Amino acid sequence: MILEGLDIIIDNNIRKIKEDIKNSLEKSGRTKEVTLLAVTKNVEVEKIQEAIDLGIEDIGENRVQELQEKYNEVNRQVNYHMIGHLQTNKVKYIIDKVKLIHSLDRISLCKELDKRAKAHGIKVDVLIQMNIAKEKTKFGLYENEIVEFVEKLVEYENIQVRGLMTMAPHTDDEKVVRKVFRDLYNIKEDLSNRNYDHIKMDYLSMGMTNDYKIAIEEGSNIIRVGSGIFGSRKY
Ligand SMILES: *Cc1c(COP(=O)(O)O)cnc(C)c1O
Repeated sequence: MILEGLDIIIDNNIRKIKEDIKNSLEKSGRTKEVTLLAVTKNVEVEKIQEAIDLGIEDIGENRVQELQEKYNEVNRQVNYHMIGHLQTNKVKYIIDKVKLIHSLDRISLCKELDKRAKAHGIKVDVLIQMNIAKEKTKFGLYENEIVEFVEKLVEYENIQVRGLMTMAPHTDDEKVVRKVFRDLYNIKEDLSNRNYDHIKMDYLSMGMTNDYKIAIEEGSNIIRVGSGIFGSRKY
């Protein structure tokens, strides 16, 4: 493949991130595979296609409408992830399009997901979003809510919980960021040790452009990277 212009930038970015993933895994003595999920919000279709042609297999959107548009336009074999806040009345538009929903954060959403998944004869894979740092501006369950929430999920047979997701606070203080990721890892371990039959703890979705190395060191196996691949977003 002959690369030019933008392709070279995207290619270099992906290579660098893959190298970082390898180094962070080595540094922490972890051997798990890490999925590089390319966050494509506000990114043009051609750039997304380039990233896919360069080996990206998973892409994430945080708005339903944009996910639907990309789903129709990107025209490549790729896994779609819903990573943003999901309104209940929009579940129907994406239920049969996504591989994984990263933002389950309330019972009303469980009801709708379960109902729509049942109608399609599928089980929908989800991650529970947690708000570890209790930031007012973010969605997600607090740590003290998670066990009760998980126990209620037993009623929803068409939802399969696969793990947890979080976003770290926007700060340069590495200690604060690392603690959030470590806390999420420990919650995952605690839930695993409870041996619930109805949930699985396969995935920890944590780490974005500014903090994915720390996240991997703390046990992430899905990193969600946007600007680190496509350059800074224009809003
Ligand atoms: C935008 C977004 C990302 C990616 O952010 P970058 O800093 O561009 O890597 C990751 N996760 C979620 C939920 C997002 O909305």
